[in-house]
Amino acid sequence: KKELLKVEGLKQYFPIKGGFLGRTVNHVKAVDDISFTIYEGETVSIVGESGCGKSTTGRAILRLEEPTEGKVAFQEVDLASLSKREMRKYRKDLQIIFQDPYASINPRQTVAEILTEAMEIQNSVPKEKRRERVLELLQTVGLNEYQADRYPHEFSGGQRQRIGIARALSVDPKLIICDEAVSALDVSIQAQVLNLLEELQEKYNLTYLFISHDLGVVRHISDRVIVMYLGKIVEIADRNSLFESPQHPYTKALLSAIPVPDPEHVKSHIVLKGDVPSPINPPTGCRFHTRCPFAQERCMKEVPELKTHANMKEGHQAACHFIEEIQSGEMNANFEKK
Ligand code: SF4
Ligand code: MG
Repeated sequence: KKELLKVEGLKQYFPIKGGFLGRTVNHVKAVDDISFTIYEGETVSIVGESGCGKSTTGRAILRLEEPTEGKVAFQEVDLASLSKREMRKYRKDLQIIFQDPYASINPRQTVAEILTEAMEIQNSVPKEKRRERVLELLQTVGLNEYQADRYPHEFSGGQRQRIGIARALSVDPKLIICDEAVSALDVSIQAQVLNLLEELQEKYNLTYLFISHDLGVVRHISDRVIVMYLGKIVEIADRNSLFESPQHPYTKALLSAIPVPDPEHVKSHIVLKGDVPSPINPPTGCRFHTRCPFAQERCMKEVPELKTHANMKEGHQAACHFIEEIQSGEMNANFEKK
């Protein structure tokens, strides 16, 4: 397995201005010290509720937002240390697909123009070959050449997402960040687009970072899953371990929110109470303690380390002080307390 992307100690704080002279009075700690690695050819998902920092992570990797702190190494080159100019060389390798491709494309450009634009910026395809490349791309994503000179509004949501994918592919990327890329689509269309992404992954040896709040989608597409809560990673595991033996109380709660036909899973059923606290002054210690049914004194004081606990498979990590106790049933959930 070859490392493609290594994120280390990534922080993304957004200043809150206020008071006299508009000084920075506080920070939104959108992403607070996270580390993970993505290997070539795999699909890693980041899941969590809105505001957990998953999209911010994607944007920080691409430097659409300058990270506050931390390292993002792509093929062992620290992207955060590059100048804007040097970064341009890597732009093509890292592409992003958004939830609503319509919002990120110019409605007055034809599909051919949209697809040629990135090739122009990158100068990746000689001028006389661009038209040919456009037609090829359309075919690759399941559209046809007659659609090249149409405008985005003439397409359905699913087709527009195919255009978004074609645009990302137009520069031969290595990593594609899919930020809620199929969330706005109907379930049947969603499946088609996911299948297309999987085909393309095989064909071009693509690596995906899939950002989604939809566990059904995540279960379908991921090799590994990262669960985030309030700017922190609470659990990382391969897809099967995560869905079949989630360890962190938050992951268990997330999974209990989706209907599971298997009654085996009912015993780990946790229903979350309350809302996600503000990332401005996140709870001390374990950030999940205000909603965790297992929370103890210690949870409010000590930040739990993300690590592999006893009885967990290699590569499976969770950040909770009481994984073993919860697992053995020694600790009963205190649902009344909250
Ligand atoms: Fe719950 Fe404490 Fe574990 Fe956090 S560390 S998940 S509060 S038991
Ligand atoms: Mg795959």
